[in-house]
Parts: sequence; structure tokens; C-alpha cells
Amino acid sequence: MNVLVVGGAGYIGSHCVRQLTAAGHQPVVLDNLVFGHRAAVDDEVPFYPANLGNEKEVGKILRKEKIDLVMHFAAYAYVGESVTDPLKYYFNNVASTLHLLRCMLGSGVKKFVFSSTCATYGEPEKMPLVETMPQAPINPYGQTKLDVENALKAFARAYGLSFAAFRYFNAAGAAEDGSIGEHHDPETHLIPLAIDAAQGLRPPLQVFGTDYPTPDGTCLRDYVHVDDLSRAHIAVFDKLAEPGTGLFYNLGTGTPTSVLEVIRAVEEVTSKPVPHTLAPRRAGDPPALYADATKAQTELGWQVKFPDIKSIVATAWEWHRTHPTGFAK
Ligand code: UDP
Repeated sequence: MNVLVVGGAGYIGSHCVRQLTAAGHQPVVLDNLVFGHRAAVDDEVPFYPANLGNEKEVGKILRKEKIDLVMHFAAYAYVGESVTDPLKYYFNNVASTLHLLRCMLGSGVKKFVFSSTCATYGEPEKMPLVETMPQAPINPYGQTKLDVENALKAFARAYGLSFAAFRYFNAAGAAEDGSIGEHHDPETHLIPLAIDAAQGLRPPLQVFGTDYPTPDGTCLRDYVHVDDLSRAHIAVFDKLAEPGTGLFYNLGTGTPTSVLEVIRAVEEVTSKPVPHTLAPRRAGDPPALYADATKAQTELGWQVKFPDIKSIVATAWEWHRTHPTGFAK
């Protein structure tokens, strides 16, 4: 299939582009490079440095590249910033996505794979999370993703759009050959910060909160390898043949891992101590978030290749060790 990967130069998008090629599909990347990195996309892959909300430009690309399906990864994803500058998040994550969808529907492209998030569940009462549990986001970031999920449901009914929305847990790790990986600016994620702290490239890691109602007092998260995420996006293609199909899947390993366990995994993998300090809780962090991914496993045959934190961190380490400044020269 010819697949337009919107945000294909970003962290998850660029890994998905590689997986698409490996699976025999033809990826085409659209990315405005606000957060994406040109070097994350191989030169052989057609690349368009455009905005996803530019309907004229996107329409031309859809026709020229004979696109069959669009994957959409391009979103702002800083939870704290979404609280202080929600307009930015509604414009990019909702309004621009609506432009993209209108353009697709106008061009007859009716298959869509959307990056959603476990942040749409808010602060759930029960764990692990199943797809049918109530969604009540506690920040504008999660709300914008839920707004798009709801728009997609209506578009499936009204216009025959077929879509899959994947609710990611904590995307982590890097390509197994260490050639591409995670590079955010600013970086706020635990694993890259812990690795950089171990390498002495950043100040000691702050452990946000040690008094949570969890076994070691730090937050539990479900870290899932970025290539495992990517493979689910491709495994769903066959399910989108029927017009009007709407699918939602959690993507996580189902294993809760604490902040201190991540630190230990980084120390074991790198053979370096992770300098860290114990700090107060970060606003808006729920104590525990982990997935029941049975639906993706049974319906898509999705099996993770990286089931444990150490194997995930090992791939991240290979990337950071060989690219201490990420994609920056
Ligand atoms: N975390 C931390 N120190 C940091 C960054 C993150 O203790 O410098 C914790 C954070 O509180 C959360 C977990 O690590 O419990 C994962 O955070 P991250 O930002 O990587 O992902 P999130 O779960 O917020 O999407």
C-alpha cells in the first residue's frame, strides 16, 4: 500500500516508516520539521516538508503519490504546555487534523490510522486499562486526542471512513540497529533523561514523587517499544477494507514498571550509575497506567518483541550511546 505518514520524521512516525518499508509497503512522509528530524527519514523515502493543515498541498500529495491510507502521528504532546497554552493544542491536534481528514475525504482516501493515547482515560479507577473503560482526560492534550477519536467515529458513520485509533502507553526504545531513536527538544521523557544523566550529559535525574500508593512509591507506567507500536499500525491494514470500520486498541506490554525500576534497568544496561534526586510529584501524573492489550493481541495477532524494560532500554542505549546529540550535528 502507498501510505502517507504525517509526522513521519518524528519519533514514532520515523520508526513506523522503517517498518512500512520492511513490510513491503511504500511510505511517503509529510512533516513540517517543527519537531521532526529530516535525518530520521531515509533518502529513498519521498519527503514533503509541508503542514498537515494545508489542504491544497496535502491534496496534491495524495493524488501524486496515489495514497491508499494515511497514518497521522503529527501532534503536540507536552501535557504541561497543553495546560498553559491549550489553543496551540486545539489548533494543531484538532483543527489541523480536521483539515487533513477533509482533504482525504475530498480526495477519496478513506483509510486512516491515528495515534491516540492512554491520556484519554484520565485518572482511571481500575487497572489494567481496557478499551471500553470510561475516557475522561484530565488535560487538554488528552482531550484533543479524544476529540479526534470522537470525530472519527462520526466520520466513519457519515462518510464511510475506515479508521484505527491506537492508544499508546509509554513509547520507548529505538531502532535495533541504533540508527534512529528518540530526540525531543525539550526532552521530558524518563528513559532518555536517565540515560543522559548516566552519561553525564544532563544534570541528575529528578524522580518525580516517591509517595505514590505503589510498591516502591514511584509511578508505574507501561513502556512499550516503538517498533512494537509500529508493527501494530501495519497489522491493522487488513481490518480497514470494509468502509465505515472504526477500531480502538490499547498498545502496551501490560507490565507496570516503576520509575526506580527504570533507573535500575538503565544502570544495568549501561553499567553506569544514574545520578538522581528524589523530587516532589509532577502535576498531573497518575500513580499507575498500564494496558490490557488483549484486544490488539487477539484481533491483530500483535505480539511484542520487547516484553521487558531491560530489552527496551538496551535499544535506547545503543541509539544514545552512538548519537549523544541525537540528530543534531
Ligand atoms: N519521570 C520522572 N522524572 C523525569 C521524567 C519523568 O520521575 O525527569 C516520571 C514521571 O513522573 C512518570 C514516568 O517517569 O511517572 C514517565 O514519565 P514520562 O514523562 O516519560 O512519560 P508520561 O508517563 O508522562 O507520558
